[in-house]
Amino acid sequence: MSFPSSRSISPVQATTIVAAKDWSPTSWQSKPIKQDVDYPDQAHLNKVLEKIGRLPPMVVPGEIHRLRQQLADVALGKAFLLQGGDCAELFDYCAQSPIEAKLKVLLQMSLVLVWGARMPVVRIARMAGQYAKPRSKPTEMHEGEEILSYRGDNVNGYDPADRTPDPERLLGAYFHSAATLNYVRSILAEGFADLHHPSNWNLHHVKSSTLRQEYQGIVDRLTDALDFMKTIGADPNAGGVQSGAPPSTLNTVDIFASHEGLLLEYEQALTRLLTDPTNPTQQKYYNVGTHFIWIGDRTRQLDGAHVEYFRGIENPIGVKCGPSMKPEELVDLLNILDADKQPGKVTLITRYGVDQVDKYLPGHIKAVQESGHVVVWACDPMHGNTKQAVSGVKTRHLIDITKELSQAIRIHKQMGSHLGGVHFELTGDRVTECVGGSMELLDAELLQRYETHCDPRLNYEQALDMAFLIAKYQEK
Ligand code: PEP
Ligand code: MN
Repeated sequence: MSFPSSRSISPVQATTIVAAKDWSPTSWQSKPIKQDVDYPDQAHLNKVLEKIGRLPPMVVPGEIHRLRQQLADVALGKAFLLQGGDCAELFDYCAQSPIEAKLKVLLQMSLVLVWGARMPVVRIARMAGQYAKPRSKPTEMHEGEEILSYRGDNVNGYDPADRTPDPERLLGAYFHSAATLNYVRSILAEGFADLHHPSNWNLHHVKSSTLRQEYQGIVDRLTDALDFMKTIGADPNAGGVQSGAPPSTLNTVDIFASHEGLLLEYEQALTRLLTDPTNPTQQKYYNVGTHFIWIGDRTRQLDGAHVEYFRGIENPIGVKCGPSMKPEELVDLLNILDADKQPGKVTLITRYGVDQVDKYLPGHIKAVQESGHVVVWACDPMHGNTKQAVSGVKTRHLIDITKELSQAIRIHKQMGSHLGGVHFELTGDRVTECVGGSMELLDAELLQRYETHCDPRLNYEQALDMAFLIAKYQEK
């Protein structure tokens, strides 16, 4: 391996540390915490955290600022946000085929969205770190015995015999995230997202012929447009990134990583004071474990540890908002998390359920409009619509998901606001976890390939259904 030798070392510049008032990466520790993990061996935990604290950043400030800029565009109505991925990633998903399948479905959805909305799409994957899960109960019954609940692969095992929290799993989370990101970066750099590589854009497995035809129509029209640009010399890199020219926006795309910031010890170990590339005289605190990080609906208490941690980092952040959020509480929360009122710093991910969206969304929009914060409004039509299937497993119906989404779009429009993005739990595989869609999956068929260890996800075909639905709304 060789390193460039011509790079000059810039003179040391005087820098100031810019941080939120009375905040430090450890200040969350003095606040009440929800969903905390009780580790049996504290010394072991500390040793692991020390190690994680020395490991290199997985993402760098320049990327975080680029996402901030793109989300500012979303907040101002100039771009659309697509965020999606598994409810809970497993360490086992860190393998070539599941990573490729997830990237593929996100790219294909975003292509449909770009076409429908005629605006850039910002892509954020729930990936490379989405391991920790908040649980409604700390324990559950298994064969007549009370055992600890599964808390995600970075805490304990899904196997009932492996439920004791193990700090080594935090190290596992770092390395699985890093390996996932590494592969994502490599294949994107080699042209995985290049529209000139048709195999990544084909709908091989889609059964519904209408869906396939509609999608093929978009791909054909886009390929024609690209060929035309090539003919007139406006596409400098029509041969793909392998042609040697630097990648242009037509050959590759940004895909950012995200996860719920639940295990604050881990997040703290990955919080670093680094130079702000947009202003090299300043140093700021960045979470270098992911680009975008969100607070779940269960851990967003105003005086709690999670809000305290989140208020100090430069990364763009998300907040899940459900029916229990009071409008005045939402404004208090934004005043803490977005004290400087920076457009797109906060993404509000709303998840009320189809029967409640009408009741709560208007009050939340009004409160934010009056507050002067300019947020990204994203709709998560999954988490308010979980039901029990006949077999007893958790499921979600596409009809409910569709309705919550269309109502959110309508309510935003009526109130002079706009829905900036969507947040889905999905997979690129052909699982059977949600009911309905163009493949008309039935409740009785759910057990055929029900694979999730947590919430039910849209499968490949259902995810594309959603993209077409949103694109059609955007065209109107
Ligand atoms: C999730 O996104 O998986 C989740 C737990 O969501 P919420 O915090 O909205 O319940
Ligand atoms: Mn979930």
